[in-house]
Amino acid sequence: MNPAASREDVHPFVIIARAAADARRVWTHRGGPIALVLDEVTGRVLSITPASELPREFLRSDVPLNVLSDFVLLPGLVNAHTHLDLTDVGPRPHDPSRGFMPWIDMVRRERPTEATDIAAAVRRGVSLCRAGGTAAVGDIAGAPRAVPSVVPFDTLAAAPLASVSYLEFFAIGNGLQRGIDGITGAVLSAVERQSAHSVSARLGLQPHAPNTVSLSGYRHALDLAAAPRKMPLCTHLAESPEEREFIAHARGPQRELLEALGLWNDAIAGEVGRGLTPIEHLAPILATARSQWTPFTAVHCNDVSDTDLDILSGTGTRVVYCPRSSDYFGAPERLGPHRYREMLARGIPVALGTDSIINLPAVAADPEFGSISVLDEMRHLYLRDGTDAATLFAMGTVNGACALDAPPGDFQLSPGSTPLSIIAIDVSESREGPDGALRSEDPRSWVLDTLSGTVNVWTRKNAV
Ligand SMILES: [Zn+2]
Repeated sequence: MNPAASREDVHPFVIIARAAADARRVWTHRGGPIALVLDEVTGRVLSITPASELPREFLRSDVPLNVLSDFVLLPGLVNAHTHLDLTDVGPRPHDPSRGFMPWIDMVRRERPTEATDIAAAVRRGVSLCRAGGTAAVGDIAGAPRAVPSVVPFDTLAAAPLASVSYLEFFAIGNGLQRGIDGITGAVLSAVERQSAHSVSARLGLQPHAPNTVSLSGYRHALDLAAAPRKMPLCTHLAESPEEREFIAHARGPQRELLEALGLWNDAIAGEVGRGLTPIEHLAPILATARSQWTPFTAVHCNDVSDTDLDILSGTGTRVVYCPRSSDYFGAPERLGPHRYREMLARGIPVALGTDSIINLPAVAADPEFGSISVLDEMRHLYLRDGTDAATLFAMGTVNGACALDAPPGDFQLSPGSTPLSIIAIDVSESREGPDGALRSEDPRSWVLDTLSGTVNVWTRKNAV
């Protein structure tokens, strides 16, 4: 390739900022500004340097310059677990001492069931995700009245956001065959549409949880997700004491719910009640997923023993931790502190998720200041646990990419990478760089969106 010709093909665009950071490096210069140079056409990062060392080739009057000196730049974030079809239910208070079941009843009662309502909720959720600097989501397409839905997938395919739409299903006891038939039909219909959709929206599969999907239901999910479809797999796992009671002892409110729904039968009785933890119960499934084409993504993992940690690392399972959701449901009080730092130390990729808007604070739905964003999860862990900024940036970007089987380079600010988007966080009230972005309570984030072919600075006012 002729280097002179390739230089003429790029259209540099310079952003001066306080600092920039990604999972690999914090770009800062003794408090002085840094210069990030993007190709205006492709969004590729051409250079990051201290502003005083900006390469001469970019110091030309025809190179646009955007000064954001009170801002810290981060790559667009990955929310690895959310339920955008529940956005219109809105944030709701919850009393963990009443247990998980009244909450489940409320969601079953209030979730949208008509296609137009589901699509509207997902679109509103997309806006709130974008407002919080999100570039990609792992979104659970819920199954209203236990029927899998491809409406969120179709809606996300038209959204300015990369996504995996995990089709959720239930399949247990007397509902096993009905659940398997339903998800098989939904996958076949969604795969047909996939060729018409943009590549930024992909299909995944989510057997709901070990208390609503039997092991044969999980095995069916492995078959559906295998080559040639190669669908990412995700499940709720080890979330609550009720789940542990059901799996270990075949009793408690989860069993009562199955009985009330007429689903409980001897086949379930033969699978649970063997004293196993939920992760031990699912271990053979997690191992098969890894050997088949890709490891499972396990969401929550609030309830994890030492043996469970061995299983998660031995099966290459990715974990998504939803800190504010876990706190909302009282997991730290009921199950002890989340072990995400031990998981990371063992090489288990731990990503972040928001879970649904129902468990977020009321401000999340505010039309002006609301957002559904893992930036707030990162801030929560920074303030609660003192977790270092570099670890949190990795959890909110490249670890999320791993959970969604997406390219990590889409969520990096390194020279040569092409991030899907870049967020700029206002730290004008702080003297700090990247740590200030986590200490800030300012919900506003500005996004430099490189998806649309040019670098557009936009705010929530023109959010889609
Ligand atoms: Zn969830």
